[in-house]
Amino acid sequence: MNIALISIFPEMFNAFASLGVVGRAFERKIATIAYFNPRDFTEDKYRRVDERPYGGGPGMVMMAEPLFQALQAAKAQLGYDTPVYLMSPQGALFNQKQAQSLAQNSKMIIICGRYEGIDQRFIDTYVNHEISIGQYIVSGGELPAMAVMDAMIRLLPGVLNDPESAVQESFSNGNEMDYPVYTAPRTWRNQAVPDVLLSGDHKKIAAWRKKAEL
Ligand code: SAH
Repeated sequence: MNIALISIFPEMFNAFASLGVVGRAFERKIATIAYFNPRDFTEDKYRRVDERPYGGGPGMVMMAEPLFQALQAAKAQLGYDTPVYLMSPQGALFNQKQAQSLAQNSKMIIICGRYEGIDQRFIDTYVNHEISIGQYIVSGGELPAMAVMDAMIRLLPGVLNDPESAVQESFSNGNEMDYPVYTAPRTWRNQAVPDVLLSGDHKKIAAWRKKAEL
């Protein structure tokens, strides 16, 4: 999967894209990521990407033109038919099912908003889908984009060392939760592991887990 990310803070993705499961996906080239910073597409000497809102009100708004230029550069690299996603509190609430369907994309462009949001004319013309990570506000689209990309990338074939992990975890089958897990030592500060897990009886263990999931 090839991802183009439009953000004025691409540095935020450094640790995300290099560590753990997601880091492995990029290292194995199962996913690629390219950054397009709207600031690099400004023409004034202050490299301005925001302006005050027409009609008044608090805060600043991301201007359409630097975003448009960054988007053109992203499309030139990935293709003009690449779907464009905007991280937005007004978007469809993200869930595991959506992660599964996004993971089918071979390419996508993700836009991270900042300030009070983005000039609506840009959204109306160029954004195909808006995604929200929840009913709360964070200060930029970068963290939401990381949540969405992480959920999606770990589902790509070859990313998880044990593909079973993605099949049986919470939310993968409707609303079913994952079962509780335990590891060494057998007794930790006077708390023992449930006996059934040490019984070696796979049928019994499966039944216990099934019950716990429900
Ligand atoms: N004034 C806006 C919030 C802007 S927050 C409002 O009240 O709706 C700045 C940016 O952070 C947004 O443009 C969006 O890209 C991102 N963002 C904030 N909260 C988000 C959420 N819950 N889901 C997805 N993106 C979010």
